[in-house]
Amino acid sequence: MSESFMDRLISIDSLSALNSDGPRHCAQLLPPRNHPLKIKFILPALTEATSPYWRPIKYSLFPPLGLATLAAYLRPDDEAMIVDEHVEPLTLNDAPHLVVIQVYITNAYRAYRIADHYRAIGAFVCLGGLHVTSLPHEAAPHADAIFTGPGEQTFPAFLADFRTGSPRHIYSSNSGRTLERVPPIRRDLIHRSYYLVPNSIVVTRGCPQHCDFCYKDAFFQGGRGFYTQRVDDALAEIDRLPGRHLYFLDDHLLGDRRFAESLFAGMHGMRRIFQGAATVDSILRGDLIERAAEAGMRSIFVGFETLAPENLRRSNKRQNLNRDYKAVTDRLHSLGIMINGSFVFGMDSDDPTVFRRTVDWAVEHGLTTATFHIQTPYPGTRLHAQMQREGRIMTNNWDLYDTRHVVYRPAILDAETLKEGYDWAYREFYRWSAIARASLHHGTLKHHFKHFFYASGWKKFERLWDLMIRARRLNRMTPMLEAVLSRITRSDRAASLTDITSAPSPDATPERIA
Ligand code: SF4
Repeated sequence: MSESFMDRLISIDSLSALNSDGPRHCAQLLPPRNHPLKIKFILPALTEATSPYWRPIKYSLFPPLGLATLAAYLRPDDEAMIVDEHVEPLTLNDAPHLVVIQVYITNAYRAYRIADHYRAIGAFVCLGGLHVTSLPHEAAPHADAIFTGPGEQTFPAFLADFRTGSPRHIYSSNSGRTLERVPPIRRDLIHRSYYLVPNSIVVTRGCPQHCDFCYKDAFFQGGRGFYTQRVDDALAEIDRLPGRHLYFLDDHLLGDRRFAESLFAGMHGMRRIFQGAATVDSILRGDLIERAAEAGMRSIFVGFETLAPENLRRSNKRQNLNRDYKAVTDRLHSLGIMINGSFVFGMDSDDPTVFRRTVDWAVEHGLTTATFHIQTPYPGTRLHAQMQREGRIMTNNWDLYDTRHVVYRPAILDAETLKEGYDWAYREFYRWSAIARASLHHGTLKHHFKHFFYASGWKKFERLWDLMIRARRLNRMTPMLEAVLSRITRSDRAASLTDITSAPSPDATPERIA
C-alpha cells in the first residue's frame, strides 16, 4: 500500500461531516436524458482495517461481490468503477452521477462521511447493506436513496426510476426475491491481483437457520430468508472463473440438500478445489459432505460457537444441540477437509474457564484455524433486542461492534476478563507449539503438513502479507494456497507413518453437546 493511500485514508477521516439536506430530486443530478451514467461503487474500509501501519490479510481476501452483482444491472454504455478501500485508495476529487456505498456496522461512520461528501458536490448517493437494513433511520439522512434487504430486485427497479428522474427515497426488498435471471456478476470491475481469493462466489442467499445473534433474519425480514441460484447458473459462473481455487461465501453451502447435491455432481470433472461454510448438523447428516469432498472441498468454516448446551439453547442455535462435535471433526478429517472453527465468548453461561476449555478442545480436535469472537449484539438481531430489554447494552459506538470489544454487560464474566480471555485465546491457539500439536492430530504426513502450513501461513507471516497487500500482488500467493489445499488421496493415507486411529485416543469418550 503506498503512502498516498494512507494519506487519503486519513484525509477521509478528517472530512467534516456535512449536514444532510434530506432527499433531493434527481432531475438536478441526472446527465442529459439517455446519456450514459457515471457510477461509483464504494466499499469503505472497516474501522478495524484503517490502521496506517498495518493491513491484516483477512481484509484483503475477497472482492466486494455484492457491489459487482449490483453493477451487473447497468447498461453497457454506463461507466462504472468499484473502489474497495481495503485494498486501494479512495479518491474524492471526481464527480460521478451516482454513488453506491455498501455499509457494514464498523464502516458506518466512514460510509456516512463519504456519502455526505458526494451529496455536497451534487452526486446522487445510495446506501445499502446490513447496517442500513438494521438501522434505516440512522442511514437515511446521509443518502438520497436507501436500500433494505438484498438488492437483486430493488436495485434494477431503482435504476429504472433514476433514469426517468423519479427515484424513491426507500427501496425495500419484500417480495419476489429470486436469483433467477440475475445477470452475470461484473467481475471485470474487480482488480483480481489485489485479492488473495479473487475467485470468491456466492450461489445462495441467506440461511435456513435462525440463530438469535445473527444478522441474517433482520436482513431478510419480510421475504424469503433462504434461496439458491439455479444449479446451471451456478455452474456457468464457476466455469467462467480462471484457475482452480474457489471460495464459496455462502452462509450455509449445504443448506439446501438437493441444490448442493446437484452442484457437487455438476462440479465433478471441473478439477476445482474449494472452501465453504456449513452447519454442524448438515455435516453429520447423510452423505452431502462426502459429495462435497469428492467435488473438491478442502476446507470448511463451521460455527461451533460454544461447547455449552445452555448457550446453544439460549441463542436458538438448535442445529448444534445434541450434536457430537467430535464426530464432526472426525468426519471432516477423514475426508481430508481442514476445519476453521468459529467460537463466541461471553454468552450467558460462560465463566472464566471458557477460554482455556475452548482452546484446548480446538487444539485437541485438530482444528486448523479458529475464529474467536466476543459476543456482539448487532442492532436488528433478537440478541440486541433482548440485551436492550435487560439494560445491558453499554455503548452504541458502532466502531466497537467488531467482535473484538465488549459492548454489553456479560452475565457471569466481567468485561475485562472477557476481553483478556479473548485476546489470550487467539495468542494461545496460534502459538507455534499449539499449531504443531493440532496438526499432529491428523493421520497422514501430508495432512499434517497442510495443516501446519495453512495455520502458520495465516497467522505467523502477517508482515509478509502486509508487503504483498502494499505491492498489490496478493494473487501471486494464490498458487501456494492451492498447493496447501491439494487433495489427500488414499495413497497418502496408506503412506501415513503413524496410524493414529489405532492408538487409544484421548477423545474416546463420546462428546455430545446436549
Ligand atoms: S447458522 Fe450461521 S448464518 Fe445461519 S442463522 Fe445461524 S449464525 Fe446465521
